[in-house]
Amino acid sequence: MNSTKIAAVKTLLQAQPKISIIPHKNPDGDAIGSCLGLCIYLKNKGYDATVVSPNDFPNFLKWLPAAQEIVVYDTTPEKAQQQLQSSSLIFTLDFNNLKRADGLAPLLEEHKAAFVMIDHHLEPDDYAQVTFSSPEESSTCAMVYAFIEAMGDKELIDSNIATCLYTGLMTDTGNFKYPTTTSETLRVAAALVDRGADNSLINTNVYDTNSYDRLQLLSVALKNLIYLPEYHTAYITLTADELQQHNFRKGDTEGFVNYGLTIKDAVLAVIFIQEGNYVKMSLRSKGDVDVNILAREHFNGGGHQNAAGAEHIGTIEEAKAVAYFRNVLPQFIK
Ligand code: 5GP
Ligand code: MN
Repeated sequence: MNSTKIAAVKTLLQAQPKISIIPHKNPDGDAIGSCLGLCIYLKNKGYDATVVSPNDFPNFLKWLPAAQEIVVYDTTPEKAQQQLQSSSLIFTLDFNNLKRADGLAPLLEEHKAAFVMIDHHLEPDDYAQVTFSSPEESSTCAMVYAFIEAMGDKELIDSNIATCLYTGLMTDTGNFKYPTTTSETLRVAAALVDRGADNSLINTNVYDTNSYDRLQLLSVALKNLIYLPEYHTAYITLTADELQQHNFRKGDTEGFVNYGLTIKDAVLAVIFIQEGNYVKMSLRSKGDVDVNILAREHFNGGGHQNAAGAEHIGTIEEAKAVAYFRNVLPQFIK
């Protein structure tokens, strides 16, 4: 990591600031893992640091060290506001555009604190005093590892920090499967195991936590899957009724979209999920098919080349989103 930027963070820390650490809305393993890993590190160094999440996070991450200390804005808005307002240093992790902080965005946009961004998404906004942006990186957790190392504190990585960072490394690489997984990613994973991350336990805690309802919902999703061989594209829809029939809980649909990409020769997979008053879209692709562009240009979303997301706010139901998608598909997949 850039030594001038590391020196700038050290200067910011010299003032013993009260620190808030923010993940993106609907935080995933990488967002929560990186925030908690950084928070525990800063606390071990004697700083006053707290993670403030825009909304609640999935149950399969609730077992992470210090997860219970996360302040959730949706659940306890006053507490979250107080924490943010009294902070003079704010880290934003695993996103690069303040809109991704959802309900916290207005507070952050007006905030006078110094900002440090650590993120691996494409096209970062310019709101931070110090911006660590590495779109080629597998995960924000790998970047937090590099950050701690560059701070000269590798020896301070304890089993709690290692567990949090390993979790995000594992989830954002699809269990070390995506092309972003380099030999360096695997070396970082190995270093985290050396520092106390229990690979097998973390896998069990994250992936082997299905409820019966979730598996039934998966069977509905797979039944609803449509494959368009001419476009090498698979898509899945889930209606509000289907979610309700299977007692949908946050995180239940995580990973469903990936099944589309397991079809031989598929290069694009999308899932449309009607969640309350919006349609949540997850887009995944292989190789040069750039879902960041598809999400940005057509659905007001974004992310990475091979994994992106978007939300249709308002009354648009998932059937309309699908119709629109099928309409733009021929020009997108040539
Ligand atoms: P997911 O489909 O798992 O929600 O998101 C896939 C990737 O795209 C993640 O890296 C996530 O942070 C990013 N992403 C999801 N939704 C949005 C969005 O609405 N805007 C942007 N810019 N990125 C998103
Ligand atoms: Mn990430």
